[in-house]
Amino acid sequence: MGEVISPVDGAGIGVVPGCSVEDVDAAVSRAAAAFETWRHVAPGDRGRLLRRFAAQVDAHLEELALLEVRNAGHTIGNARWEAGNVRDVLDYYAGAPERLTGHQIPVPGGLDVTFHEPLGVVGVIVPWNFPMPIAGWGFAPALAAGNTVVLKPAELTPLTALRLAELARDAGLPDGVFTVLPGRGSVVGERFVTHPAVRKICFTGSTEVGTRIMAGCAAQVKRVTLELGGKSANIVFADADLEKAAATAPYAVFDNAGQDCCARSRILVQRQVYDRFLELLEPAVRAFRVEDPARETAEMGPLISAAHRDRVAGYIDGADVAFTGSCPDGPGFWYAPTVLLAGSPADRHWREEVFGPVVSVLPFDDEADAIRLANDTEYGLSGSIWTRDVGRAVRVARAVESGNLSVNSHSSVRYWTPFGGMKRSGLGRELGPDALHAFTDVKNVFIGTEE
Ligand code: NAP
Ligand code: MG
Repeated sequence: MGEVISPVDGAGIGVVPGCSVEDVDAAVSRAAAAFETWRHVAPGDRGRLLRRFAAQVDAHLEELALLEVRNAGHTIGNARWEAGNVRDVLDYYAGAPERLTGHQIPVPGGLDVTFHEPLGVVGVIVPWNFPMPIAGWGFAPALAAGNTVVLKPAELTPLTALRLAELARDAGLPDGVFTVLPGRGSVVGERFVTHPAVRKICFTGSTEVGTRIMAGCAAQVKRVTLELGGKSANIVFADADLEKAAATAPYAVFDNAGQDCCARSRILVQRQVYDRFLELLEPAVRAFRVEDPARETAEMGPLISAAHRDRVAGYIDGADVAFTGSCPDGPGFWYAPTVLLAGSPADRHWREEVFGPVVSVLPFDDEADAIRLANDTEYGLSGSIWTRDVGRAVRVARAVESGNLSVNSHSSVRYWTPFGGMKRSGLGRELGPDALHAFTDVKNVFIGTEE
C-alpha cells in the first residue's frame, strides 16, 4: 500500500507508507505537548515564523508546482498558482497573531474582556483535488491562532503536503507544531475524529464523508468546519454579454479537469438565447487545450485516477451529448471536455456532482424560473450570474442559496475573502478576515473592581 501514481501516464512515482492509529496517537501527543509552548510564543514571533514558512514556500515554488503536476496532473500554470496561494495564505495569516483582539464590554462593578483562545490540536483532512491550497487554508489560520496542527493529505496526493512539512521545519517551526500524517481516511482521518486531544476537525471532501465526520465529532462536541461538494449554477440571462459568457463558461467548469468543488457544472440559459449561446459555446469547448499538463499552454490535464475516470464516464451513458472537446489518448487518465443537454432537472448528470469535465445545459424562462432551478439542489457552494441589469444581478445574487457568487465573472477563491458553502455544501467559512475565529473559542472574563 501507499504507491503514488502519476495520472499523466499512470507511472508509479513513489511509495508513501500510511500511518497507523499508533502513529497518529504518538503524533497527536507531540502536537498536544507542542501546543503548550506554541500558544505562548509572543504574537510577533509567531507571525515571524509563519512569514519565514511563507518565504520557504516561495523559494521552492517551482519545485512544489512540478511535484503537483506529476502527482495530481494539474497544469503547470495552476500548480504555480496553488503553491503561490499557500505562500499568500501564510503571509496573510502571519499578520493575524498581533491582531487577534477581543472586546472590552461595559459592565457595572468591574471590567469585562473577551479573549480568542486557541483550541489545541487541530486535525486538517485534505482531498486530492487541490492538495496544496486546501491544506494551507486549514493550517495557516490554525497555526496563527496558536493551535498546533496534524494534517492528513489524500492518499492519492500526499507529496506536496509532505514537502510543505519539511519547509515548515526548515523555516524554524518548532517540533510538533505542524505534522503531516499520510494514510487512509478510515485510519488516520477517523482517528483525528475519535482522538479526544484533537479539538477541531477542518475537513474538505465529499458530502458523504463530511456528514459522517460531523456525526463523529458530535460525540465529543468537537468543533468542525466542513467544505463539501457542489453543483453550482452558471446563470446566463438574455441581456448578458453572451460572447463573454460563452467564452468563459468552459474555464468555469473544466479548470482542474472539473475536479473543483466550485465548478459551474450547471449552465442555465434563458430560452430566447439558448441556441445562440450553444453556438458560441461550441468553438470555445473545442478549442480548450487538454494536453500534457507540464506544457505551458495546457489548460487541462488528466483526471486523478482510472477509477475516477470510469465514474465520470458513467454519467454520459444515455445522456444527450451536444459536443465535446478533445484530449490525448494513450496512457494517463484523460477525458475530453463534454457538454450535455439536460432533458429535465431530474437528469442524473444535472443533479449529481460529476467532479469531471462535464457540464449540463438547461434552458429557463424568466428570473423566477432561473432562481427556482438554481436552488433546486442539495448543494450551495458557488455560482455565476450573467446579466447587464444591475438590479437583477443583485436580486438574483441575494436569492441564490450559495456561499460564493460572482456577477459577470467566474471569480475564483481569494484568500482575503470568506469561502464556504450553504446547505449540504458545508458548514463554516474559511479564508478572509474571520477564519481565525473558527480556530478559537471566545472566553469572557469579568474582573471585579469594587473595593
Ligand atoms: P473524500 O472521499 O471525502 O476524501 C476527502 C478526505 O477525507 C481524504 O483525505 C480522505 O482520505 C479522507 N477520508 C475518507 N474517509 C474518511 C473517514 N471515514 N474519516 C476521515 N477522513 C476520511 O473526498 P475526495 O474524493 O478526496 O474529494 C472529492 C470531493 O471533495 C468532492 O465531493 C468535492 O466537491 C469535495 N471538495 C470540496 C471542496 C470545498 O471546498 N467545498 C474542495 C475540494 C473538494 P483518503 O484519501 O484515504 O480517501
Ligand atoms: Mg474518496
